[in-house]
Amino acid sequence: MRRFARLCEALAATTKKTEKVRLAGDYLRSLPVEDAACAALFFTGRPFPRIKALVLGVGASLVWQALARLAKPEPGVLEAVYRKHGDLGAMTEEVLEGKQAAEALSLENVRAAFERLAARRGASQKLPELEALLRRACRLEAKYIVKIITGDLRIGLKESLVEEAIAHAFDRALPEVERANMLTGDIGATLRLAAAGRLDAAELRLFNPIGFMLASPAESAEEAMEYFPEGAFVEDKYDGIRAQAHKRGREARLFSRTLDEVKEFPELLAPLEALPGEFILDGEIVGWRGDRALPFTEFQTRLGRRQSEAQRELWPGFAINDADVPVVYVVFDLLFCDGKLLLDAPLSERRRRLETLLADVVSGGAGQRPEARGGSKLQLARTSLCHTGGDLQLAFERALARGNEGVMAKAPDSPYASGRRGRYWLKLKRPMATLDVVVTAVECGHGKRRGLLSDYTFSVRVPGEDRLVTIGKAYSGLTDAEILELTEHFKQHTVDERGFSRRVEPTIVIEVAFNNIQRSDRHESGYALRFPRIVRLRSDKPVSEIDTLDRVKQLYHGSLITGGA
Ligand code: AMP
Repeated sequence: MRRFARLCEALAATTKKTEKVRLAGDYLRSLPVEDAACAALFFTGRPFPRIKALVLGVGASLVWQALARLAKPEPGVLEAVYRKHGDLGAMTEEVLEGKQAAEALSLENVRAAFERLAARRGASQKLPELEALLRRACRLEAKYIVKIITGDLRIGLKESLVEEAIAHAFDRALPEVERANMLTGDIGATLRLAAAGRLDAAELRLFNPIGFMLASPAESAEEAMEYFPEGAFVEDKYDGIRAQAHKRGREARLFSRTLDEVKEFPELLAPLEALPGEFILDGEIVGWRGDRALPFTEFQTRLGRRQSEAQRELWPGFAINDADVPVVYVVFDLLFCDGKLLLDAPLSERRRRLETLLADVVSGGAGQRPEARGGSKLQLARTSLCHTGGDLQLAFERALARGNEGVMAKAPDSPYASGRRGRYWLKLKRPMATLDVVVTAVECGHGKRRGLLSDYTFSVRVPGEDRLVTIGKAYSGLTDAEILELTEHFKQHTVDERGFSRRVEPTIVIEVAFNNIQRSDRHESGYALRFPRIVRLRSDKPVSEIDTLDRVKQLYHGSLITGGA
């Protein structure tokens, strides 16, 4: 583990990608295969392979408690050190100054300790386990153990670079490593295959979800069509949650974008199980009533109880289970069918096969109404072929009129680029609503922004009362210069300081964009913005004129169409 930690330091110290790949690759080659598999996994900042449904369940506060027990710092020291670094790993290194290892800790020891941590239930069981692990480590090892636990190594080695390092270490072609890693969903297993020269033996395993293909945004229909000289398949963009369906024999399961199993919609499984053969589908689960999709705000009441940690990150906030909201699975892609992997087949062929597979349950085809027959819970995404910006604009307006979020334009001859965001798929969305809000609390940022007050909790006004209520937190959107200036401003306008956070005088008005509004018990307003980001500073606007809770309610109840004040 010590060599691994030292190597991480060396990786963090170089900004050159080729140098990182060479260093990591040489290191992996020098290790016995099982250790190398472990190191490759840790390089990705994960304690467990992507496909394993294991979670450590160790959050920042548990790490904090373990460090407090180990280092026994004076009151306030941990807070001060954290504020300086904005990173728990770096904080660990500093507060454990002078700490020696109790024993030589191997990568395998750390892996086994992670498994034990995952198996323990609740903070009271996990804390002693975590403390014991950190006690065995030296200061530098502890730093990287904490970084893996918090899922953020910050050594600039994304999974794609680890794939490159494996290709370099064992002299294999990068596309073969990437493909094996996509299929196995396990970078350690990929390394073992690469070491044995058996990358071609990697097989897709049903019920191991694979990375989703992602879309890039387009600003306008005209711009989007420039990427599709031969025309584009245009589908409605449904606003629900993305899901990959796997089916074999009498069993079907759904997986989310975080590759966790989605368990909230058991009613979708029987119709999937009734389809013939084995397959993997890609699509969107949406709320549905009559002949149209429901707004996300209504659909989201079905999300909640059975969410995993990771899913909760994606859909923060409170949600109740409401079986009254009917859902359907709108399918738009076919990745695997009856033993044949279709990722490299053109979209036009995948779509054709998909229409055949679903022929008995839906009446849709290209350009036709895709409504389900007999109230089926499975639907085929509506699609049409567009050749011009005008065609696409029309399709976009029709999609909005049907209550959908916009359209997706897809290259008919494109492969399914698993886990990648490229130009084969472009999304064109309705303009977003924005809110003018005031910053009421601030926190230090992380990484490059440590020491800067860059994370802002913001509030709206309660009309008729002299009161502000929080509604969200945003981290992104301002320039470095603006953040620097605001940091000074907030330091001088702090009302009180508690742990990580400072309450500040409500003086800075910002405009925030967001994807949606949801009910939430996290914020005083009872609502939370989904994916908020700062559009700009509104120094022209006094706090007395910011948006009100009433406008939030209006936006929540109506569908969000146009911009703010
Ligand atoms: P966004 O979340 O805005 O980045 O948009 C991408 C998401 O749109 C995907 O991850 C899907 O969940 C969703 N989506 C809705 N309809 C479609 C569609 N027809 N094709 C692909 N993705 C879709």
